Amino acid sequence: MKISVIGTGYVGLVTGTCLAETGNEVVCVDIDAEKVQKMKDGEVPIYEPHLDVLFDRNLKAKRLNFTTSLEEGLQYGEIIFLALPTPEDEDGSADLSYVLGVADDIGKKISEYKVIVDKSTVPVGTSEKVKEVIQKNAKCDFDVVSNPEFLREGFAVDDFLKPERIVIGSSSEKAIELMKKLYKPFVRSGNPIIVMDEKSAELTKYAANSFLATKITFMNEIANYCEKVGADVDMVRRGMGTDSRIGKRFLFPGIGYGGSCFPKDVKALHKSGREVDYDFQILDAVIDVNQKQKTILLPKIQAFFNHQLKDKKFAVWGLAFKPETDDIREAPALYLIDELLKEGAEITAFDPEAMDNVARKYSDHITFSKSMYDTLDGADALIICTEWSIFRTPDFGKVKKSLSNNVIFDGRNLYDIQDVENEGISYYSIGRKDVK
Ligand code: NAD
Repeated sequence: MKISVIGTGYVGLVTGTCLAETGNEVVCVDIDAEKVQKMKDGEVPIYEPHLDVLFDRNLKAKRLNFTTSLEEGLQYGEIIFLALPTPEDEDGSADLSYVLGVADDIGKKISEYKVIVDKSTVPVGTSEKVKEVIQKNAKCDFDVVSNPEFLREGFAVDDFLKPERIVIGSSSEKAIELMKKLYKPFVRSGNPIIVMDEKSAELTKYAANSFLATKITFMNEIANYCEKVGADVDMVRRGMGTDSRIGKRFLFPGIGYGGSCFPKDVKALHKSGREVDYDFQILDAVIDVNQKQKTILLPKIQAFFNHQLKDKKFAVWGLAFKPETDDIREAPALYLIDELLKEGAEITAFDPEAMDNVARKYSDHITFSKSMYDTLDGADALIICTEWSIFRTPDFGKVKKSLSNNVIFDGRNLYDIQDVENEGISYYSIGRKDVK
């Protein structure tokens, strides 16, 4: 099939590449001319495991193409995916200007039947809005489908190629059939394509993300409570997670969720509720608790240094909002770093993939190191903010030798308390005993 993808970010580029991988001919459109040129030259502009191999193969086979021309994109595809940003607006709602702006162009520019597929995360009722906007100018038939994306950054290629489910929200039989045909190669193992109405599809995405954010937040509260009463959240987590009704995943406490999706999606669902006079009280609490959780290590750091953080040097391991991505949107590390900088501390950081993105934001305030151990030179303490695998089994001897205050503040509970204690290092983590 001929496919167009409008917006070539984490979702759009993975969608375009994976659809090309199954033999479709794909044109990806982006307004960022520099990015488009890079992609035409064979460069993958984001870090996403395994994407480079597929990208390279399909670019060379000319099944994957890039342009800045929306007109070209809209003419090309029989199916047009919208993978556009829906960032948080000032009032917490989802900013639909990108999606509706392109919808306006679609109405003006299409001249034959197209299926417009919304992959962006959008509030209930957006399909209807998109339809109305296109309809104003359209000279031909079209259908609008809601097809929310559930890929996880860091596993995006795998998630797209082998999705646990595909949700299609549409009232058009013709569009549903086309979508099923397109996705057939991805569900050969029997995972379902769930067809529903547009509104339910739109809400499914918000409900899933908000539920996961709530699960993480619930566990963070349990961890905070553990610290008050001397329980060990690791034990509690294991005890809970073995209950199949609960499950083991998303029970790891830490310094809060971040990223480009959970924070904005929880807020957008909360805001959408308000618009129809429904108060999502649980989401209110999730937003509030998570905000506080991002800096939950700060009082421990302050107490350790007797509230004298001026000129203290901190090594920070991990900047991305989670491992296996270079995405730093709403990354908890940045909130904690901000607080430390405000108190006059100095930061030297290392992240395997996210340093360039952080450097653009914090050029004057953070020093970056080439390796995780280089950050420790002359540092008073080590702070861990992202659970990258390479941080999991460090050479504690080296750590101890380099840190002048011999202390680790771990926002991701990477180490066994006993192991660190045996090494003679002070260790503060989340929801567990502090080793002083
Ligand atoms: P992104 O910011 O990485 O990418 C968006 C791209 O769209 C950028 O390259 C930008 O230059 C381009 N763009 C903006 N306006 C444009 C226009 N008018 N025409 C063409 N291109 C334009 O965003 P993303 O992370 O890929 O997210 C896209 C949507 O998918 C959002 O609604 C998001 O909530 C949702 N989503 C994201 C993820 C994720 O893990 N990132 C997962 C599921 C769903």
